[in-house]
Amino acid sequence: MTTTDKPKVGIYGFTGCAGDQLLIIHTEDEILNLFGATNIQSFVMASSNPIEGDLDVAFIEGSVSTEEEKEHLQEIRKRSKILVAIGNCAVNGGPQAMYTDDGGYEKRLYKVYGEGVKFVSKPLEAKPIDTYVEVDYYLPGCPISQPQTFALISRLIHGTIPEPYPHPVCHECKLNENHCLLLDEKFCIGPITLGGCGSACPNHGLPCVGCWGPNEDGNFAQHLKLLESFGLTKEEIIRRIRGFGGSKIIKFIENGGK
Ligand code: SF4
Ligand code: SF4
Repeated sequence: MTTTDKPKVGIYGFTGCAGDQLLIIHTEDEILNLFGATNIQSFVMASSNPIEGDLDVAFIEGSVSTEEEKEHLQEIRKRSKILVAIGNCAVNGGPQAMYTDDGGYEKRLYKVYGEGVKFVSKPLEAKPIDTYVEVDYYLPGCPISQPQTFALISRLIHGTIPEPYPHPVCHECKLNENHCLLLDEKFCIGPITLGGCGSACPNHGLPCVGCWGPNEDGNFAQHLKLLESFGLTKEEIIRRIRGFGGSKIIKFIENGGK
């Protein structure tokens, strides 16, 4: 296959820690295969010489938190056949979106940066990328998992449809034969969190804090009740759950589920 026959791919980062791009770069066993099977047009962490033409697949990391990012995202969408959100910030808004839409954005902004501050680009409340553009596929995680990432890339390159992992963290936790931390009244939100991480935290006796984002089929109302029975207020529970669920999890909490 010549370079011109290979699918043209762009990898972009907006507001986030760049951990998902780093994970792709750090996959030493697979990165040469990826670079060999695709025609990478833009990947700021790997090359400082981007080509901003049409793309077969665009991978977007990070939430949108400035007008400039919003316009760049919309411009990428226009020239991409497939657009994939990678990582918790792009998929759910990330920790920076934990209070999005609560009405207190301006107050927080000027408390942090000071009154009268001048911004290079107009700041926006941090939001997941599907607030502004259509997203074809979601790859959650904080950061994304290597096996899930390369399985998705491989499917896209071969023209088959990627299948999202449909189960909660508890599913993997049970397969790993872990002791359930809820039995010890630990604040674990595995039942309402999308799996795919291999239950990384409970495997080490640590509760899941929800970094893969909300599992849409979770019974949010019942899980809230259970956590309240551990002696926490509803406000405290929601504050903790919002940490990674961003603005998206609030609708599930308010509706009790899907
Ligand atoms: S420890 Fe957490 S993730 Fe594991 S089964 Fe219990 S609630 Fe689910
Ligand atoms: S167990 Fe929960 S917090 Fe830990 S990596 Fe998985 S989704 Fe993230």
